[in-house]
Amino acid sequence: MDLKGPLCYVLDFDDINNYAYQTALKIKQSGWRPDVVVGIARGGWVHARIQCDLLGIRSLFSVKVDHWGVTATKDGKAKLSVPLVGDVEGKRVLLVDDITDTGESLTTAVEHIIEVGKPADVRSATLMHIAGSKFVPDYFGVEITWAWEIWPWNFFEDLTSLIMKIYEGEKISEMSTAELKKHLREYNNIVLSDEKLSKIKAHMGFLGHIVYPLDKMWRLDE
Ligand code: ADP
Repeated sequence: MDLKGPLCYVLDFDDINNYAYQTALKIKQSGWRPDVVVGIARGGWVHARIQCDLLGIRSLFSVKVDHWGVTATKDGKAKLSVPLVGDVEGKRVLLVDDITDTGESLTTAVEHIIEVGKPADVRSATLMHIAGSKFVPDYFGVEITWAWEIWPWNFFEDLTSLIMKIYEGEKISEMSTAELKKHLREYNNIVLSDEKLSKIKAHMGFLGHIVYPLDKMWRLDE
């Protein structure tokens, strides 16, 4: 498949529940039982909350690592931007994120938690693991080859970035819905319903990227 942009997959909450369940199953089968869950903001939060439910844990804490800027582009090194919130001293910590890609976010977060939290043990879990990532989490739902995964909690943000890249790549300032559909297929192998597209259009209007409401066209607000 020869795409003009990064290959993307749109995931829904059934996919997420399925991968989270697979991850939890592996944790349970390993015989290891965490005392607390730490979710890496922002990408790991929803998965972290689901693991609390699947593993019967009431203590949910957070740490924030920033790395990726715009969808599917690397943006410098992973940086710890908000330190660990919550007391994990002497506890078994399950550190949760969405995906291991470069592995830098998880490496940074693990080092930080060990240093400031003094836990008994830290293990990591992600929904997806990209084969070849420098960091292999202790538990993951599924192993994949590289693609940009569009999480249901990041749908509008990702689609907005991808569509802005299409305007840039095509050097255009307006397109019809039919043209946009064609570009999304050619750039990212994405196919979306008219209903989803009209919600994205309203969102991009809300952000001030395009002129909205508008009849048929998707026009940049320049
Ligand atoms: P990790 O340390 O977990 O490998 P990275 O530092 O590579 O993570 O990326 C940080 C965050 O960027 C991820 O937790 C995720 O939210 C997002 N991200 C990175 N790669 C992808 C991808 N291929 N698809 C979707 N989101 C991604």
